[in-house]
Amino acid sequence: MLNSSLKQMSAALRAKEISSVELTTLYLERIAAHNPTLNAYVTTDAAISLGQAKAADELLAKGKAQPLTGIPVAQKDIFCAKGWRTTCGSRMLSDFIAPYDAHVIEQFNHAGAVNLGKTNMDEFAMGSSNETSYFGPVRNPWNQNAVPGGSSGGAASAVAARLCAAATGTDTGGSIRQPAALCGITGIKPTYGTVSRYGMIAFASSLDQAGPMARSAEDCALMLNVMTGFDERDSTSLPREKEDYARDLNLPLSGLRIGLPKEFFAEGLSPDVAARVEGAIAEYRKLGAVTVDISLPNSRLAVPVYYVLAPAEASSNLSRYDGVRYGYRAPEYADLSDMYEKSRAQGFGAEVKRRIMIGTYVLSHGYYDAYYLQAQKIRRLIAQDFADAFKQCDVIMGPTSPSTAFSLGEKNDDPVQMYLSDIYTIAVNLAGLPGMSVPCGFDGNGMPAGLQIIGNYFEEARMLNIAHQYQLATDWHSRSPVKETP
Ligand code: GLN
Repeated sequence: MLNSSLKQMSAALRAKEISSVELTTLYLERIAAHNPTLNAYVTTDAAISLGQAKAADELLAKGKAQPLTGIPVAQKDIFCAKGWRTTCGSRMLSDFIAPYDAHVIEQFNHAGAVNLGKTNMDEFAMGSSNETSYFGPVRNPWNQNAVPGGSSGGAASAVAARLCAAATGTDTGGSIRQPAALCGITGIKPTYGTVSRYGMIAFASSLDQAGPMARSAEDCALMLNVMTGFDERDSTSLPREKEDYARDLNLPLSGLRIGLPKEFFAEGLSPDVAARVEGAIAEYRKLGAVTVDISLPNSRLAVPVYYVLAPAEASSNLSRYDGVRYGYRAPEYADLSDMYEKSRAQGFGAEVKRRIMIGTYVLSHGYYDAYYLQAQKIRRLIAQDFADAFKQCDVIMGPTSPSTAFSLGEKNDDPVQMYLSDIYTIAVNLAGLPGMSVPCGFDGNGMPAGLQIIGNYFEEARMLNIAHQYQLATDWHSRSPVKETP
């Protein structure tokens, strides 16, 4: 069952070959056995999960099941879930019990899915290695001395280690795609505004977007079907009809025009990853696609632009954590402003403080024009580069990450090296485009590499089709770091 697709699991549940309570118990046992080493989950609550599984079994018995009814899904600990501790990987929220459900959580509840637990993440989703979490680093199931990527590292590790059927993640600059690549799984960040941000703890609101992380493109399509939908409580939620993201999975790829940006294959890309990505592109040619050389001239500015804009938005979003109504409050303080200072000094970790300081600086009088405004203008140019590219091609492909998973601790002392982990993913967020990562092979040390697929706005169904056809022709996505077969 652990290697079955969501569709197969759903069929087994309907055929009463297994109950949701049994399936949930199987995963809870695996979490109990492996989470002490992997640290992929911050919180589990067997009573809640099994209660939801029981309710799902009743729906199944009545013949009222939807595609994900009874399926155990892991939720990134950035989504508020009523009655669940929701920490966002921070000491600031380490005791926070959410009083309401995020829209994403509501959608999974309506679908009858089981919430298996809350996954570990970089603090406030700031990081590329899961090492900024207050709850300690997550380990990569392919090599426990390697990072799983971040910020959705717990989700990626849990999916790869078969500690859940599928998971949710969020992606502000690459946090779904980069950990998906480093853990050998599939993940998609949809077009900005497709999934509601209501109840999703804010990092950089103009970039944050939730999406699924799973073992295949087909599984991602079923997850995305549940997650999307207009929500008036998020002012940037797009008023579009619900669509079936699995509808085009089986279309042939003949004539598909794949754009290869020269900037994505230049200096800085590990030869191992380059070789795997080129191998994937060769496979696409066999499937009938043609390649077109393109250029995204402003993409080299994406990382610096992001590290002005994302901290600017974060400094504003994180000003709400003042120790007054909820969140961490310092035990001892002299007066009100001392209480604010000490609560924030003790409640936030080093990376979060660094971002708040950068953000406050670039927004301050005298620097706003030089940094923030300038970055906004370049953001526009980056989006224009993609618009020009999509006149020549249907999708863009390249590496997801410049290297495979690096060692724990390797980039901790050098924030800029860490920031460069997202060099190929960040421009997609700045433009608001959909992007995904698909496993495309392994390096010499047996660590997975990811192929990035970037589509035009609202092309998710087409991208999932493109990924699915590749996954029918190859088996990289079904390789598993789990040796035992329970
Ligand atoms: N690694 C990037 C950062 O640290 C992106 C994180 C994300 O997408 N949430 O900001």
